[in-house]
Amino acid sequence: MIIIKRTQKIKDLVNKSHLDGNKIGFVPTMGALHDGHISLIKKSKSQNSLTICSIYVNPTQFNNIIDLNKYPVTLEKDIDKLEMADCDILFLPSTEEMYMNNEIKEHYDLGMLEHILEGKYRPGHFQGVCTIVDKLLKAIKPNTLYLGKKDYQQCMVINKMITDKKYEVRLEICETIREPRGLAMSSRNLRLNEVEKIDALKIIETLINIKKDIKPGNLEEIKINATKYLTKNGYKVDYTEIADAATLEIVSDWDGKAKLVALVAAYLNNLRLIDNIIL
Ligand code: AMP
Repeated sequence: MIIIKRTQKIKDLVNKSHLDGNKIGFVPTMGALHDGHISLIKKSKSQNSLTICSIYVNPTQFNNIIDLNKYPVTLEKDIDKLEMADCDILFLPSTEEMYMNNEIKEHYDLGMLEHILEGKYRPGHFQGVCTIVDKLLKAIKPNTLYLGKKDYQQCMVINKMITDKKYEVRLEICETIREPRGLAMSSRNLRLNEVEKIDALKIIETLINIKKDIKPGNLEEIKINATKYLTKNGYKVDYTEIADAATLEIVSDWDGKAKLVALVAAYLNNLRLIDNIIL
């Protein structure tokens, strides 16, 4: 695997690679890699002649400095995992290059996606995500971008950004990889102790209960019960919501036909966990 730190160098390499007729698959990450990330790399490997992974802990998408400072960094292990997965290139950009001092900050029109669910509880988060993904797409010009369904709203935000900016990139949204008992893999899980890992299963249990109990009509009670279940089990809940899977509009009354997604964000002690399932 080639490791590249300079933006100009990755630009030169991908330009040459495109001229040579390669299809480029790109997997942006913040590192502390796990099998969820590696599944994206493998998907890209199966569909492209060149797979690029980036690792960059993007400061502008954190709205809490403590969370940023505590974000796990495991670069040596990440390199081993990427080599095992046969990743071709690892891009490790620097903050100096990603955020030039005199650069004018772009604002992305994300419509209602900016104000609901993650947007509501993490103001500015998606502007930060778009800023960095926009910069990475400009440098790497991939044919396909691989994102995980674990971050459902992020997929929709990036889809809007690439459509609005007319990027010629295909978005492939990959299934959430879970631990054997159902906990969605996440870099932040490294901060869970053994007891918390068991308690964290309540998130997927809540989502599965929603899936079991949902029926056409008013959905308020099912949402309230989900919140109550988590609260009873020691969580501080940001939201338990049911939304249209295609638009992410919140659904209060279900016609029994629209495809839905249930989404949860809740704190277990000081750690914020998110997950979702299609209903
Ligand atoms: P992150 O490093 O958390 O920014 O994640 C990088 C990419 O990996 C994003 O597209 C995530 O949605 C995706 N991802 C994170 N966790 C998982 C998982 N458990 N299964 C599949 N994809 C994931």
